[in-house]
Amino acid sequence: GYQRVLEENRKLYNQVQDLKGNIRVYCRVRPFKPGQSNTLSSVDHMDERTITILTHSKNGKEARKAFTFNKVFGPSVTQAEVFSDMQPLVRSVLDGYNVCIFAYGQTGSGKTHTMTGPKELTEEGLGVNYRALSDLFHISNQRKETISYDISVQMLEIYNEQVRDLLSADGGNKRLEIRNSSHNGINVPDANLVPVSLTSDVINLMNIGHKNRSVCSTALNDRSSRSHSCLTVHVQGRDLTSGNILRGSMHLVDLAGSERVDKSEVVGNRLKEAQHINKSLSALGDVISSLASRSSHVPYRNSKLTQLLQDSLGGQAKTLMFVHIAPEYEALGETISTLKFAERVATVELGAAKVNKDSGEVKELKEQIASLKAALARKE
Ligand code: ADP
Ligand code: MG
Repeated sequence: GYQRVLEENRKLYNQVQDLKGNIRVYCRVRPFKPGQSNTLSSVDHMDERTITILTHSKNGKEARKAFTFNKVFGPSVTQAEVFSDMQPLVRSVLDGYNVCIFAYGQTGSGKTHTMTGPKELTEEGLGVNYRALSDLFHISNQRKETISYDISVQMLEIYNEQVRDLLSADGGNKRLEIRNSSHNGINVPDANLVPVSLTSDVINLMNIGHKNRSVCSTALNDRSSRSHSCLTVHVQGRDLTSGNILRGSMHLVDLAGSERVDKSEVVGNRLKEAQHINKSLSALGDVISSLASRSSHVPYRNSKLTQLLQDSLGGQAKTLMFVHIAPEYEALGETISTLKFAERVATVELGAAKVNKDSGEVKELKEQIASLKAALARKE
């Protein structure tokens, strides 16, 4: 009886997760810069799920367009609040899931703020990367009587369709290959894989990574906005009773700026960079939207980014896309194209009808779980 209740409980939990879908899209709106508070905003309205943008129609009249997300985070939402919402997703890595978390948006919209934090890092400012790892350390420690976990990280950069190791001692000058058949979930075997067990380990590594990344940039030529950076966390857990091994991974990706560059204005390297960024962001969009629409062919091969993440996009893997919005009215053009990208990657999950139907079912399943839990508690 007891075992059956447990099993039933787990099955229902998985069903709830399935109903919620494996692809989620969140929108985060950056606050105005200090001293900018009276600036005209392109954001007309926000609630927990919807953002309404002020646009102008062809005849010059004001018009509004609404976009729906799994969640909308307004400008006053803190780093801790953002993280607490995604904590269950992060923790699922310890149960053997593969997770991808992306930060998408134009340069200056807050991608690095979400993933890493502000330049002057404070405790409250810590971004998802630090919080996720601290949380994994915390939970793995809590489980140490039953499961022994090894956690290690890689830090890669994709620039102009080339992969570099940001944790390499030579500053990451060597180009690395992505292996098609990954070994233990590690598909860039030549990149450093560094065991970590303390938040301070992570902070040290991230500092090395950031230094290596900026070696190749000048003040005028900020490379970090034109390359993707990916912090990958590999988790291996050994069940101390059965000896079974489980593996999970989490990719935390700060994407290159999504802004369109005017082709008439850039030439040479700058144009090449822009083309590579365009290609890889649209390849990512294509992969996620074909996963969302359960298409039989998923075009992973079209960019280094999607090749790198192939094992962690689709199947049982979970994807969270954070799209970032700059509130200034001048950014409207980019804001609309960002929201359109978000709409495209979430075709299935975000349809209003589907959401309503699901939420009823999810509610019902949640109620069943609650009553099973109560039954379980009575047995104990
Ligand atoms: P991106 O990485 O997309 O180019 P940044 O993360 O560097 O953008 O953000 C641009 C600036 O705005 C930075 O100074 C950053 O600290 C600030 N910023 C971004 N998002 C927030 C936020 N949610 N709250 C406070 N400041 C933010
Ligand atoms: Mg950035």
